[in-house]
Amino acid sequence: MSMTWEELERLRPTDEWRYPLPPTCRKCAYNLTGLSEQRCPECGTPFTWREVRQRVRRIWGMTLRLRHANQDAMTGLIIALSSWFALGFAKLVGSTYLTGFVWILVMIAALMALVLGSQVLNVRRIPSWARSFMGDPPPNIALGLLTMFLALTLFFVPLILF
Ligand SMILES: [Zn+2]
Repeated sequence: MSMTWEELERLRPTDEWRYPLPPTCRKCAYNLTGLSEQRCPECGTPFTWREVRQRVRRIWGMTLRLRHANQDAMTGLIIALSSWFALGFAKLVGSTYLTGFVWILVMIAALMALVLGSQVLNVRRIPSWARSFMGDPPPNIALGLLTMFLALTLFFVPLILF
């Protein structure tokens, strides 16, 4: 005897949990798995599964994005460093036309590097109970800050350099 997918789907309980993160109380982060009463047994806060599901889905989306945060910061760092080399090269050549052109590119690159470096800071929006789901290694705050700093110097130092 076998069942079709449709029949299996009908057997599935409607409140089945489909996220890798556990359902948690919004107030005390107590794991609400398997509770029939919609009230947190730990702190007494009432909840609805709809609300819990929406909140956990949002947090899960953030943890997935953070998995790329270190790579983003590294890309931003390379962009910022390349921009510095480009500025140095333009300075060396000393052409006004080239400097103007490089300047525009560097401003765009600096903005990109700033945004890429800032991704690691989103770790603060992840509640502590969900941080173990961010992936390994965790977001490198120091790398992100270094990228952001280098990106910011690109906005100001050319004013002195040229
Ligand atoms: Zn609670």
